[in-house]
Amino acid sequence: MHGCAARLGENEKVTALSAPEAGVLGALLLRIPGNSDKTVINAVTGASLKGFIINHGLKERGIFPVEILRVEHLTKSYGSGETEVKALNDVSFRVNRGEFVAIVGASGSGKSTLLHLLGGVDRPTSGKVFVGGTDLYAMNESQLAVFRRRQIGLIYQFYNLIPVLNVLENITLPLLLDGRKVNHQQLAEILDTLSLQNRLKHLPNQLSGGQQQRVSIGRALINNPALVLADEPTGNLDSKNSAEILELLKMSNRKYDQTLLIITHDEDIALQADRVMVIEDGRLIKDEVIRK
Ligand code: ADP
Ligand code: MG
Repeated sequence: MHGCAARLGENEKVTALSAPEAGVLGALLLRIPGNSDKTVINAVTGASLKGFIINHGLKERGIFPVEILRVEHLTKSYGSGETEVKALNDVSFRVNRGEFVAIVGASGSGKSTLLHLLGGVDRPTSGKVFVGGTDLYAMNESQLAVFRRRQIGLIYQFYNLIPVLNVLENITLPLLLDGRKVNHQQLAEILDTLSLQNRLKHLPNQLSGGQQQRVSIGRALINNPALVLADEPTGNLDSKNSAEILELLKMSNRKYDQTLLIITHDEDIALQADRVMVIEDGRLIKDEVIRK
């Protein structure tokens, strides 16, 4: 880290070639042009990587993007023979760190199936998913469960909160499952952002829909995941709450340089994304950058 930092003078041109070959999320591979034998690999945590990027103005200098998600020939079939349904059919794409992608398509087109496969909650029939260079489906179930908790934040339309746990317990659950301590500063920041400080002891059924979705966002963000995946997160909310939830997700996307993928039926949401993907009959039929 420091060795590399010392070599990055103001006038040096540096290119980030790819996300981690080392399989460590947040690793950074740099090559100084004209010095191609001096490739520098930094395996750093998300937090120190963020500091590194800011300190060296890597974004301003156009060194990023770093690829955070790579999907290769992803296929998922349900059933077999005559009843076989190809919910996802040979889908490939790449997403960079910090991108905000909207996924749209008719009901039954395969959007949720795709998101589940990106999130490591289901296994593909064939094809691969790499998150930060890690091949998700090369891992066994327990490795995948740990990876998912730490690197991927999932948000659903119907919140999926645990009814017998209060707000604070629901949000910190991913840490507790991992046997990790709560970082109180980070927790306070999240609670503050979500305006949930005076609801900590409430159970999910004592909250409005918008508040429940805030809790599920808090749970998704507590580990500061690289990848945030949301399946119609505003589908069950009125327009005011929808707008607020979207603002929260966008803010988190920018503030923590997270990659955000949202499935949505709402055209207004899709138009706020950097990029829109259209799924039809299990295929990616359109993939358009609408904002740089
Ligand atoms: P979307 O989220 O775009 O509405 P889904 O990904 O949920 O679509 O579903 C895609 C297709 O796969 C649909 O035809 C659906 O019926 C089928 N499907 C989804 N999950 C299952 C399952 N567990 N078993 C059988 N078929 C499924
Ligand atoms: Mg769906």
